[in-house]
Amino acid sequence: MRGDPKPARLTVLYRGPLASCDQHCPYCPLPTRRDPPDALRADRDALARFVGWASSAPVAELSVFVTPWGEALVRRWYREALATLSHLPGVRRVAIQTNLSARVDWVADADPGRLALWCTYHPGEVEAERFLRRTRTLRRHGVRFSVGVVALPGHLDAARWLRSQLPGGVYLWANAAEGRSYTPGEEAAWTALDPLFGYSVRPHRSQGASCRTGEDVVSVAGDGTVRRCHFVAAPIGNLYDGSYCAGLRPRPCPNRMCDCHIGYVHLRTLPLTEVFAGGVLERIPAGWSPSPTEGDTSTGRTVTGTAPVRSWRLPSSSR
Ligand code: SF4
Ligand code: SF4
Repeated sequence: MRGDPKPARLTVLYRGPLASCDQHCPYCPLPTRRDPPDALRADRDALARFVGWASSAPVAELSVFVTPWGEALVRRWYREALATLSHLPGVRRVAIQTNLSARVDWVADADPGRLALWCTYHPGEVEAERFLRRTRTLRRHGVRFSVGVVALPGHLDAARWLRSQLPGGVYLWANAAEGRSYTPGEEAAWTALDPLFGYSVRPHRSQGASCRTGEDVVSVAGDGTVRRCHFVAAPIGNLYDGSYCAGLRPRPCPNRMCDCHIGYVHLRTLPLTEVFAGGVLERIPAGWSPSPTEGDTSTGRTVTGTAPVRSWRLPSSSR
């Protein structure tokens, strides 16, 4: 809207109507379905509209995180949109959550300094060596990425194997499975792989807490509806008529708990924006970055099989 102050910096968590996935994880928390052709067309059009907005966005520094309800990189329009967004002058970072099931050669068309991927490995759904090969391709192109696993007991060996195959500088995260509690032994086993697992293993009390969402981080739906985050349904405006600008302001979290990394990472009661400084969207802690060939078994270099030693202290609120 004319006259509303424009944000200097904005992070958009974009989620279009796409809701289909090429994998069938039994533990999938998302309401995935089969998208008929008209739904796919609507998704493609919504994304094109968003990229059009981003190319002339009244924001000095824009970051975009695509968080689809399904797998988006099997769709050409997402690959093209990410490459396009990565080259826009005002875009600082463009990241996406993916199961890495699709080929990744398209990253050659993107600006590797601004593109980043959050890659989830789903044992049993994708061939492990193929998944690993794709991470090597990302490294070859200099694209930042993290790799993660859902922390189910049946995934522990696969996660250990993956850790042993990835260079030490690649951060491997573990997400606590929804609704599951962990024994101290289980928590220790996952923490040995992901030193930050303690943040995921229990939901964070968030009601009344200060959270950056709604201020300089927002969730945007395919029709442009802007919400503070994916977990609070009340809209604060629309992206395409500019009405969201008037809605951007500090406000406490209305939800009792926040248990999803893409949400609680923005809580000011947690130190995670500092822990993940420079890699909040793609979930890469500050200081983790592999050299293009570091510890790559394909090059015959040594792999230690352990994550680099880090000394983050978990605040009591996250325990
Ligand atoms: S890859 Fe992700 S979206 Fe697809 S079925 Fe598995 S958990 Fe669900
Ligand atoms: S704490 Fe979580 S649920 Fe609450 S506003 Fe922030 S992201 Fe949303």
